[in-house]
Amino acid sequence: MKISKKDALIWFRFFAQLPEGEELMVRQQEIVYATFAQIEAAIDARNEQLQKEIPNLKCLAGRTYYVGDDDKFPRGCRSCLTGTGLSAIRKTNTCNIACKFCYYYGDLDCIPPIGEGMWEIGGTKFYEKDIDLLLKIQKHPTGISYVYLEPFMEIEKYYPVIRKFHEAGIHQHMYTNGTLCTEENLKALGEAGLDELRFNLGGVNCADKVIENMRLAKKYIKYVGIETPMTPEYFEQFFQKKEAILSTGIDFMNCAELHLNPNNIGNYEGENIYIARHGYVSPIWSRELTLKFMKIAAEEQWDVVVHDCSNFTKFARSIHQRSQEDGWFGASTYTCEFPVVPYGAFLPILEDENFAFLEEEELPKGYKPGELFF
Ligand code: SF4
Repeated sequence: MKISKKDALIWFRFFAQLPEGEELMVRQQEIVYATFAQIEAAIDARNEQLQKEIPNLKCLAGRTYYVGDDDKFPRGCRSCLTGTGLSAIRKTNTCNIACKFCYYYGDLDCIPPIGEGMWEIGGTKFYEKDIDLLLKIQKHPTGISYVYLEPFMEIEKYYPVIRKFHEAGIHQHMYTNGTLCTEENLKALGEAGLDELRFNLGGVNCADKVIENMRLAKKYIKYVGIETPMTPEYFEQFFQKKEAILSTGIDFMNCAELHLNPNNIGNYEGENIYIARHGYVSPIWSRELTLKFMKIAAEEQWDVVVHDCSNFTKFARSIHQRSQEDGWFGASTYTCEFPVVPYGAFLPILEDENFAFLEEEELPKGYKPGELFF
């Protein structure tokens, strides 16, 4: 059903007014999905066009796109996408800043603690001393990553754990907003064996201090890069400081497609959004900016890899991950983070006169307002 934008808008205005928790009828669900498909088809067509404009665009195993020197493609991402390394380690439950795109926005002061002296690895709680047992019993992943909030809030706790995984030959990467890095702690991390450090440069508005910390990190840690959601603010700030950032010697930049959840969606009210394969909900400008970024990087031959960490990449990663865990055929962890579709959040794109569906048809009989009975 190639629903027209006008009909989709009429229906979505109606859905947005329904009392919370009211279930849609089957044909109404079909209308919702037809609308999502129409929006997604238009976005895909635009992105395909943008990709065609990127010189020497590369693809890793059909799963993700990038430009630049293959050798600088982030090892942590390669491990996630083609190895056995999406293993997440959680420890720190606090952060010293509050990024508007943070998945924990609004909840940053009430994130559950992992527990005194404990580490959460693959969903299980371990004391540091238990890690030897884990390494003896289970097959080692190709990589692990330290996720959750800001590890530098208590970075000294990480050194012995990193050392253990390093001795086991497992690639390790960590995320930071970079504000609490010092020469001393970066050196200690490098000595412990951290392989890769990723800076959330967008979270700090490309602060000069963090740019200098990236330069410092490169002295002690083998692979250093940026990983930040792609937003218009970041795009603008990056280009104001492009020379300084590129001169730090970083290896890669992961341009994450910003996705929204119930915590951060309020910060993006009024933006044009779409939903990718009934899973991640994102502002349509995020991936568009990534592809524009990649075009510039390729044309100017930057000495860094620029990686399009899109919703498609997350989808591919999730299928791959489940295949490594002996999941059934088709199993994945890719899902929508909203318990109920936020219908009202799709009104801006449906109301936008500059956004068009590719093809439109009249609604079939039985799908027009007033005609639905089941
Ligand atoms: S630095 Fe990371 S954890 Fe902290 S607020 Fe920003 S996105 Fe969230």
